[in-house]
Amino acid sequence: MKSLKMGAAIALSLAMAGTVGAQEKVLNLYSARHYQTDEALYANFTKQTGIKINRIEAGENELLERIKNEGANSPADVFLTVDAARLAKADDLNLFATINSKVLDSRIPAHMKTKDWYAFSTRARVIVYNKSTVAPADIQTYEDVANAKLKGKVCVRSGSHPYNLSLGAALLEHVGEKKTEDWAKGLVANFARDPKGGDTDQIRAVAAGECGVTIANSYYLARLMRSEKPEDKKVMESVGVVWPNQKTTGAHVNISGGGVLKNAPNKEAAVKFLEYLASDQAQVYFADGNNEWPVVLNVKINNPALEALGKFKADTLNVGALAKNQAAVQKIYDRAGWK
Ligand code: FE
Repeated sequence: MKSLKMGAAIALSLAMAGTVGAQEKVLNLYSARHYQTDEALYANFTKQTGIKINRIEAGENELLERIKNEGANSPADVFLTVDAARLAKADDLNLFATINSKVLDSRIPAHMKTKDWYAFSTRARVIVYNKSTVAPADIQTYEDVANAKLKGKVCVRSGSHPYNLSLGAALLEHVGEKKTEDWAKGLVANFARDPKGGDTDQIRAVAAGECGVTIANSYYLARLMRSEKPEDKKVMESVGVVWPNQKTTGAHVNISGGGVLKNAPNKEAAVKFLEYLASDQAQVYFADGNNEWPVVLNVKINNPALEALGKFKADTLNVGALAKNQAAVQKIYDRAGWK
């Protein structure tokens, strides 16, 4: 009995030495990302800096709730997630620390950061259409998709989803409230069915002819393009892709990103980690993990699907604008009946 207790005590002290030992440098990462290539991303950081990464992966709401509840005692150093709307939520909860980094200032383009958080990769919201029922000339812009010409042909996911809220937030910034609401109403009037499912479900519905056109994130397309499954290949044979608003504001882009947390116990390591994410090598892993584009200019990626999608003009609106308009856009969508 006695030896058992001792054993337990030793095991406990060893475990504690492993996590909170004074000598060991650690970084506690709360991440809503879970991609295969992230393993290499984190391993490289540890190799370069000697800083061990303790990772907690969960859904973004769960992580935010946890950080909030942990308060001043939170072990979380860095929060990573996708979509400006979700980073904005963390910012609204006042969870981020404002950091100073010459590396981040010089590497991350001005429109890809706010005072408190940084984008590390981008995705575009593109227009996908059924090649046998819709002419690409009719859907060159997001505004076109709301044109009465496409009545009964539009499938799109929920208006409450951050991806669509961020798209509306960009529109609101560019054309104002009245036009954004008219657009949302036009879109709803064109619905082939009530919103259901994610972006991939909409792409499949377009391919199946259940609808003619949708708006979806680029990485879902890239994923289908890289798939070896015959049913996915068939989907991609039936649909075409349009880069929206190329003659005006450019395609709406959203981001994956993160920031250092206000109560981070390892702030120095946290800043180092974000700086590492902005390095050429990490940018490739970070972006490619989800078939996205690096935010740092001139970083070469090796992704056949993204290469096939080609180059496009992206909206250069600051990611902070997407964040600040979320609530206003939700009200507009509610009035338009986009559930
Ligand atoms: Fe997604």
